[in-house]
Amino acid sequence: MEIRKVGVVGAGQMGNGIAHVFALAGYEVLMTDISQESLDKAMSLIGRNLDRQVAREKISEAEKSAALGRISTTLRLADLGPTDLVIEAATERETVKQAIFEDLLPHLKPETILTSNTSSISITRLASRTDRPEKFMGFHFMNPVPVMQLVELIRGIATDEPTYKALLEVVGKLGKTAASAEDFPAFIVNRILMPMINEAVYTLYEGVGSVQSIDLSLKLGANHPMGPLELADFIGLDTCLAIMNVLHEGLADTKYRPCPLLVKYVEAGWLGRKTKRGFYDYRGETPVPTR
Ligand code: NAD
Repeated sequence: MEIRKVGVVGAGQMGNGIAHVFALAGYEVLMTDISQESLDKAMSLIGRNLDRQVAREKISEAEKSAALGRISTTLRLADLGPTDLVIEAATERETVKQAIFEDLLPHLKPETILTSNTSSISITRLASRTDRPEKFMGFHFMNPVPVMQLVELIRGIATDEPTYKALLEVVGKLGKTAASAEDFPAFIVNRILMPMINEAVYTLYEGVGSVQSIDLSLKLGANHPMGPLELADFIGLDTCLAIMNVLHEGLADTKYRPCPLLVKYVEAGWLGRKTKRGFYDYRGETPVPTR
């Protein structure tokens, strides 16, 4: 089956980036969210990010307009019925994702491939609650989607080969590179990245270093393009905590215990860049460390 129409569920940081790259690659995109405000914000962000690509001469003005013309939005999940591929990119909570699939499935064509951009939740478990576990896969994009080259492809225990091959082809059309991961908690990238971020928060919590010295150390001492706390703010501290909880519960090893300071930031609603405050305060001209 040829994939032409793509549905994106959730218009947050990831959803808008996913819609952006699919539209630029020539797919028709229908994006949905529970909030009209999120949809409006996503569309204006996509416009600004495309403008930036035009300014850097990565794409032409005509390509930008064509891409924008291929994206439409809706508040009704049922409108995703005619799509060939669905990418769920809603909040990292299993109950939220399950409710979305439950509402969406009665409207989908039987051949539609269903995927989740989850950073950590079991693909096999999500798939088992749908009517098409063989056509269900983890389709894990990295943030920011238009910039990052990698896409993790995660097969659930029941995923069939044609579904895997179809997504491999899609990744190629997007001009990105796929890495295959087995379906174990947090897959590859976050299995390695999140414990490092969590350890950076412990380093802060125990007073070994300040926000600034921790980020500086990893940038200049390990050649990371971003410090771990800066990166955590970028990803979203709620998402970081959710992934640590999945690792902790899924692998039953205390080495994945989420740092209490990470929990405290999330409880405060200081979720990083998206709420303008996290390990840094982004409300002014330049980010200021909050500890
Ligand atoms: P986000 O908080 O920016 O956006 C989530 C969006 O989902 C919000 O706009 C919210 O309104 C919407 N939403 C919530 N419930 C919904 C529902 N029932 N139907 C439709 N929309 C709904 O989160 P995000 O960072 O974009 O993360 C989305 C997914 O992508 C998560 O599964 C996350 O683990 C994964 N992911 C995140 C990153 C990252 O760096 N942030 C990277 C890779 C994957």
